[in-house]
Amino acid sequence: MSTALPPGSVIGIVGGGQLGRMSAVAAARLGYRVHVLAQSEDEPAVQTAGSFTLGAFDDQAALHRFAEQVDVITFEFENIPAEGLDLLSSLKPVRPSGEILRISQDRLAEKAFMAGADIPVAPWLAVTSADDVTLSEERLSWPVILKTTRLGYDGKGQRRVHDREGFLAAFEELRPHPLVAEAVVDFEREISVMVVRSADGSSGCSDPVENRHRDGILDITLAPAPIDPELACKARALALRIAERLDLTGILGVEMFVTRDGDLLINEIAPRPHNSGHWTMDACGMDQFEAHIRAVAGLPVTDLMRHSDAVMKNLVGPDDMALWPEIIASPGMIPHHYGKTEARPGRKMGHVNILFPRGALPGEFGVQDALGCLAERPGM
Ligand code: AMP
Repeated sequence: MSTALPPGSVIGIVGGGQLGRMSAVAAARLGYRVHVLAQSEDEPAVQTAGSFTLGAFDDQAALHRFAEQVDVITFEFENIPAEGLDLLSSLKPVRPSGEILRISQDRLAEKAFMAGADIPVAPWLAVTSADDVTLSEERLSWPVILKTTRLGYDGKGQRRVHDREGFLAAFEELRPHPLVAEAVVDFEREISVMVVRSADGSSGCSDPVENRHRDGILDITLAPAPIDPELACKARALALRIAERLDLTGILGVEMFVTRDGDLLINEIAPRPHNSGHWTMDACGMDQFEAHIRAVAGLPVTDLMRHSDAVMKNLVGPDDMALWPEIIASPGMIPHHYGKTEARPGRKMGHVNILFPRGALPGEFGVQDALGCLAERPGM
């Protein structure tokens, strides 16, 4: 337990991306000031924060300058080097704790944590040498997914391989070693849950949502996921269990596979606001960014209560951004622009939320219809 930060306190956010940008807006609504640690003045969160420090995440002097100006520290980016985390933790309260970031930075640490907490995951093994191909063949059969343990995101740093040759080629290409080999899950759908625990002891979570990817990047989130209520309860309970076992303070995205047998396997956790939680910005009273700031500041949190159903569509790269004028002119599309100037291919530039009355999320055709100019285009 800890006392709530009074309005006017300064929340330090490590990272200048869009998650920091939207967290800073939420913090401002609660009366807090935000100070961001970023790499350049152009970054999305610098534009919405009151002040900022520029510096690399391993620049001890910059970390010192940043910490001096804030009351509490949180992250929008989890790949902070361990020494940087230790330094920040020695200077100011860090929420979530450096220990949680260490676990989520490293797939092997994450798998070990899941095993210790009895959380179901796909069969896996650590791959430290090319000889592990035999063990992989015996234990996981083909195909498998080889993943780097660190710095993988949006499907980067992983390869699906179908035989020994493919395994050995991917082992040579993917760095750093060790790698993780995972059995390919024949999933029915991918879902995620946002779970939050405040420094004051309160907690809550969102409804599970369905996530669809394109080229390894989240494309669409459907809220709620069209799954039966029992499975939704199970998904929420798993997310809460993970948060409790981690002793989380803050928000955590939990990605899961729904298998063809109707079981849940945890894919990944991210101890920060998450792209698959962006729908909450318009479809919940308290969205994921407010929930995160509340948790970090020691204010009470509840479940992220959904007043509407929603479709979230990511705006990625120049093709989607070419449609911005049409998006802005489309009634019912709620636009969120991240303030990035250059729309490189594969870069997340913004998203839109489209709301439906609670319980009225349409089927496939209705979703495409509602997406209007953003509907799937043949050949894309
Ligand atoms: P990750 O970076 O681990 O979240 O993986 C990115 C995407 O790759 C996931 O959202 C899935 O679509 C797919 N994927 C990852 N691991 C597996 C797996 N073990 N089986 C099937 N698909 C997977």
